[in-house]
Amino acid sequence: MKLYYPNAIKMPCPHYNARPNGPKGVVSLLVIHNISLPAGFFGGNYISELFAGTLDCEAHESFDELNGLKVSAHVCIRRDGKILQYVDFAQRAWHAGVSVFEGVAGCNDYSVGIELEGTDNHAYTDAQYASLQDVTCYLFSQFPMMTSDRIVGHNTIAPGRKTDPGDAFDWPRYLSALA
Ligand SMILES: [Zn+2]
Repeated sequence: MKLYYPNAIKMPCPHYNARPNGPKGVVSLLVIHNISLPAGFFGGNYISELFAGTLDCEAHESFDELNGLKVSAHVCIRRDGKILQYVDFAQRAWHAGVSVFEGVAGCNDYSVGIELEGTDNHAYTDAQYASLQDVTCYLFSQFPMMTSDRIVGHNTIAPGRKTDPGDAFDWPRYLSALA
């Protein structure tokens, strides 16, 4: 069974694999990230190209460090609220890296990853909060083990290594809208 958010724009992405069988692969965590390429620049197709494995690493000097990197997220929400889906929610996207939540390592196995186009210190847009809320409600309807107390920032599961979604992300606004 393929799971795509009904209003998502489906995007090509080879960077995923199967979740593990058994309890470890049961989807029970939502991880919120941010991304912008180059950092602080919005719009364009670089994020989708990175996830598709087609990014020209010569296109910007900062892309050097992305050379050979195979990463993805299930969804990216653009500044205008558009929802791009790269990986079937039933599959394992490659967004969390080395990570642990409540003692369970390897968060990619059991989480959904959502990227907000942004940075740690640019306010996210109203359209992004609205779309994020919609996708979250959809995920709650599909994955009963995913609850509002199991939504975290990348910074929480990879402390010291990751800072996203950053201080700009208004957690009370987001979480209160889910109640
Ligand atoms: Zn992240």
